[in-house]
Amino acid sequence: MLPVVALVGRPNVGKSTLFNVLTRSRDALVADLPGVTRDRHYGVCHLGERPFVVVDTGGLSGVDEGLDALTAQQVRLAIDEAQALVFVLDARDGLLPQDRSILDELRRSGKPIIAAVNKTDGLDEQAALAEFAAFGIAATLPLAAAHNRGTDRLFAALLPLL
Ligand code: GDP
Ligand code: MG
Repeated sequence: MLPVVALVGRPNVGKSTLFNVLTRSRDALVADLPGVTRDRHYGVCHLGERPFVVVDTGGLSGVDEGLDALTAQQVRLAIDEAQALVFVLDARDGLLPQDRSILDELRRSGKPIIAAVNKTDGLDEQAALAEFAAFGIAATLPLAAAHNRGTDRLFAALLPLL
C-alpha cells in the first residue's frame, strides 16, 4: 500500500491546483469559485523519490452546516486515512481565523503537518512565511502551485514522514 497524503485547508487556497501538479492531471476540479470540490479526490504522485497517494479535499470553511458540513466530514475521513497532512494556506489572504480552527482540527488527529504557504508568486517569500510562523509548525514552506514552484521542498519535507 502506498502512503497517503491529504491536502487540507480553506476553500480557494489552491489545493486542487496542487493536486493537479502532484498528479500531473487535470482531474481535480480547479475553479475560481470557492468550494467547488465537494468530495475527496485521489491520485498518485510519482514526482518525488517515493510515490504516494494524494487526496484532494473540499475546503474546510469552519462553517459546520449544510454542504459545508458534508465537506468537513469528507475532510475528516481523508485525515483519518492519511500518514501526513499538507495544510495549504494562502499567502495573499494571510492567516485567517478559519485557518486556526482548521489547524486545531488537524492537530487533534496527531498526524504530522506540513504547512504549505501557497500563492507566494510575486511576493517576498520570507515575509509571506513570517506571518504563519505564529502556528509553530516546523515545516512551513513557500509554494506557488500554479507555477509549479516549491514542490521539491515539499517532497523533501514529506519523505521522512512516508
Ligand atoms: P482549492 O479550492 O483550495 O482547491 O483552490 P483551487 O486549486 O481551486 O484554486 C483557487 C484559485 O487560486 C484558482 O483561481 C487558482 O488559479 C488560484 N491559485 C492556485 N494556486 C496559485 C498560485 O500558486 N498562485 C496564484 N497566484 N494563484 C493560485
Ligand atoms: Mg478544490
